Order: sequence, then C-alpha cells, then structure tokens
Amino acid sequence: MAAITIKNLVKKYGDGFPAVNDVSIDIADGEFVILVGPSGCGKSTLLRMIVGLEDITSGDLLIGEKRVNDLAPRERNLAMVFQNYALYPHLTVYENIAFPLRLAKMDNSEVDRLVRDASSTLELDEHLERKPGNLSGGQRQRVAMGRAIVRQADAFLFDEPLSNLDAKLRGQMRTEIARLQKRLGITTVYVTHDQTEAMTLGDRVAVLKRGILQQLATPRELYENP
Ligand code: ADP
Ligand code: ADP
Repeated sequence: MAAITIKNLVKKYGDGFPAVNDVSIDIADGEFVILVGPSGCGKSTLLRMIVGLEDITSGDLLIGEKRVNDLAPRERNLAMVFQNYALYPHLTVYENIAFPLRLAKMDNSEVDRLVRDASSTLELDEHLERKPGNLSGGQRQRVAMGRAIVRQADAFLFDEPLSNLDAKLRGQMRTEIARLQKRLGITTVYVTHDQTEAMTLGDRVAVLKRGILQQLATPRELYENP
C-alpha cells in the first residue's frame, strides 16, 4: 500500500483546452478518494494517467516516494477494477483470483496460500469452485477485488464500477465497497459521476470541472459548504 501524490498534472490532447489542467491531490496511504464531476470533466483521463494508460503532458505522479511518470502500467503495482469486472467466465473463482499469480509463475503452494487468504478476507471461501456466471453481482465484484488483493497492489483504482447496475444492486455494492476498502485499508481512487456515490463512499471528494480541480474536501465539508 502507498500514498499517491498528484502534482500539477496536465493532460493535453492536441491544441485544445487541457482535459486535465494543473491538478494536485495528495492521497494518503489507505485513503479513499472519489473523483467526481460531469461527463467530460477529465476524471477518466486523470485515472488513466495514474494507471499509466495515458501519457502525462506535464506534472509529477508519485506512488509512495517513487516518481512513476515514465513507468509502464505493469510496473506501477496498481490494480484497476473494471466496470464489467473482467472475470474469466470459464475459470473458477479460485482460478480467477489466482490468475495474476499464475502469470507470474508462482509455485502452487504460495498461490494457494495467497488465494485462500484473499478469499477469506472477502468471504468467498464457499464459492471458490464456482464460475462467475453463477455468482451475484456483489460476489463478482469481490472476485475482481480478490484478484487485485493477491497481487498485493499498492492501490485500487475504480472507473465507474457500478454504472451498469440497477439502483438496488448499486446501493448494496456501495456498502460492500466501502466496507471492504476500510477492512483492507488500501489506498483507493474511485471515479464516478454519481453524487450519492461521491457523498457516501470516500474519505475525501475531488470535484473536477473542465479539467480543473474545483473542490477537495470531506463529504461533510461539501455537504455543509456546497
Ligand atoms: P470524464 O471521464 O470526466 O467524462 P474524460 O477524461 O473522458 O472525461 O475527458 C475529458 C476531456 O478530454 C473531454 O473533453 C474529452 O472529450 C477529452 N478526451 C478524452 N479522451 C480523449 C482522446 N483520446 N482524444 C482527445 N480528446 C479526449
Ligand atoms: P492482470 O491479470 O495482472 O491484470 P494483465 O496482463 O491484464 O494482467 O496486466 C498486466 C499488468 O498491466 C497488470 O499487472 C497491471 O499492472 C497492468 N495494467 C494493464 N492495464 C491496466 C489497467 N487498466 N489498470 C491497471 N493496471 C493495468
């Protein structure tokens, strides 16, 4: 786990107005920060710069003490949890969680230890032999998080993970994500355009508008001083 330091980050696509314009946010180790704002405000671009899927035009990005501007995504040790969870339908829950460890050619006993640790934390022990198609949305989300945990990533990054779900499931998943994030104490950056998510999930909310950071505050401060 690690702090993430976003220092004067700028992203320009071509000659237009910057998509991300001089944004600075110090995210503490273990903190849960929400990036919120209307469509086109630059939140995905900012998240993609953190992950390394988008080049940084200027500014600095640190994970822990390390400047990572020029590191490839796989060298940043971050775990992105996708909207569709990106699970492998033909693999069991166990093998879905184990997948990154198999890729890293870790031996079986070590894989087993890490997968069982993660599934116990996530309360998935009883579902290890099932396939994603037979799981609830909440269980699938936990499998996706399990895959991130076994990699011992420094941070979770979420890009609108709930936007495809119906209102009821969205509410359940919100609770689940908040609970897990606290239990794991893992630094988390979460992109949404949903005000309810922004005001209920995180420790702090970063409000973006046309690429500019307009507000950075706790939900309580935002509520009292919108
Ligand atoms: P959000 O995630 O808040 O909806 P984005 O980060 O996707 O916003 O987009 C921010 C701005 O950057 C928008 O004006 C968008 O049109 C522009 N943009 C995003 N991706 C590209 C791209 N690949 N090329 C050019 N412009 C882009
Ligand atoms: P994995 O199952 O480990 O995600 P991939 O081959 O999909 O395997 O990715 C390899 C590495 O590339 C990952 O460890 C990750 O650090 C990085 N990576 C690629 N795309 C992303 C992304 N969208 N978000 C976060 N990390 C990514």
